[in-house]
Amino acid sequence: MAWDALYSSAFESVKGRIGRVGKVLLAYNTNIDAVKYLDGRDLEGRIEKTGKDEVLRYAEELPGRIESVPQLLGSILWSVKRGKAAELFVESCSTRFYMRGWGWDELRMGGQVGIMANLLGGVYGVPVIAHVPQLSRLQAGLFKDGPIYVPKLEGGKVKLVHPRNFGGDEESCIHYIYEFPRGFRVFDFQAPRENRFIGATDDYNTNVYIRPEFHEHFEEIAESASLAVVSGLQALTEENYRGPLETLREHLEVLGERGIPVHLEFAFTQDETVRKAIMDLLGLFHGVGLNEVELASIMEVMGEKGLAEKLLAHDPVDPIAVTEAMLKLAGRTGVKRIHFHTYGYYLALTDYKGEFVRDALLFAALAAAAKAKLGDVRSIDDVVRAMDVPVNVKAKPVEEALSKEYGMKDGIAEVNGYQLAFVPTKIVVRPKSTVGIGDTISSSAFVGEFALR
Ligand code: ADP
Repeated sequence: MAWDALYSSAFESVKGRIGRVGKVLLAYNTNIDAVKYLDGRDLEGRIEKTGKDEVLRYAEELPGRIESVPQLLGSILWSVKRGKAAELFVESCSTRFYMRGWGWDELRMGGQVGIMANLLGGVYGVPVIAHVPQLSRLQAGLFKDGPIYVPKLEGGKVKLVHPRNFGGDEESCIHYIYEFPRGFRVFDFQAPRENRFIGATDDYNTNVYIRPEFHEHFEEIAESASLAVVSGLQALTEENYRGPLETLREHLEVLGERGIPVHLEFAFTQDETVRKAIMDLLGLFHGVGLNEVELASIMEVMGEKGLAEKLLAHDPVDPIAVTEAMLKLAGRTGVKRIHFHTYGYYLALTDYKGEFVRDALLFAALAAAAKAKLGDVRSIDDVVRAMDVPVNVKAKPVEEALSKEYGMKDGIAEVNGYQLAFVPTKIVVRPKSTVGIGDTISSSAFVGEFALR
């Protein structure tokens, strides 16, 4: 069947049924992204004033964390010089104060929970309960209207309120995003491509701080949920991961007892000890969402170095290597659903069968294309505006390889007792925005699948 016809009917089915999905619990990371578009002259002036020699030293090698203004400016230069993204935690309060004074051009919702809450609740109208580590007025103002709730304790009881009605005056967890275009110049440095440096002035999300409401009243909060998504574990380190992962285990057990399927939105986790510890919990999840870099990083800690290299060797990514990796991951952990996304196509390996798995992927791909095309998706009807974006031609050989290897038909095959679902995605050539597009893909596919069941 032609992919466009499948796209169209998948969208109509999900749209018609998305109202059936109950509340989705989202934990744990929400923050404020403060975007500053760098200005070459301004940056040069700041570097001169701070001490050029010292700043330039940090442009050679990134520090582990930022403890001074020269380190901040040097780290920004490090990114510019290489056209590479980097993210560092900002330790010193005087540097945080400096950053606040430097300011921002734009505030955006940040953190996977915040982004998914606005998409699911604010765009699709699916009710969500969000974990927001700190609810300042600035943070509350970034939530869209719609059925988005945070738990608030009143007389020892949990009440669900919209974040703007929480009345919180807590801290602002700000991630400063210093963006530069390709060709951006500072002194004799020139950026080979556009990118950004992120300085996180945030002690809460970086440590996966879990609010007292979620520690003390989790059973009550979980009671009203039908689905859950966990994210934000990526910043944990060998020093601080034990506490948060212990709480996560307790939460997963409560959700498991109630039969609530939980999706883990995996993000690149630098620390290998943490990556392994997350893998050990994977069996308690219904499913996991990841891209090629993340899947390769998991293969590495599973001792599958050759497979990890294969995953990063081709463009588009070799789908047979991806399938092998997913089979290994499912076999090792017992996780029931693995959703893989890459530039050009998605795959889902499930231990259950049905076209609804593929159709949910199609809905997610349409949502991702709409986001790339429009920048901001305001309602579910905006999603269909991506129908005119062509299906990626580079996915054709991928589909052929899957047909040849596994006898795939209309995006569905059976492999070692699992179902493998494939969709070619729609790629927007000049995207307006790709921030949080991975979160859009994973949450749309997960929720879409349960809408169609
Ligand atoms: P991020 O962390 O930035 O969200 P991910 O790797 O998780 O990054 O998600 C990026 C995904 O977005 C890619 O795998 C690809 O499927 C999709 N994508 C990226 N650019 C486009 C585009 N221009 N049009 C459609 N989809 C895109």
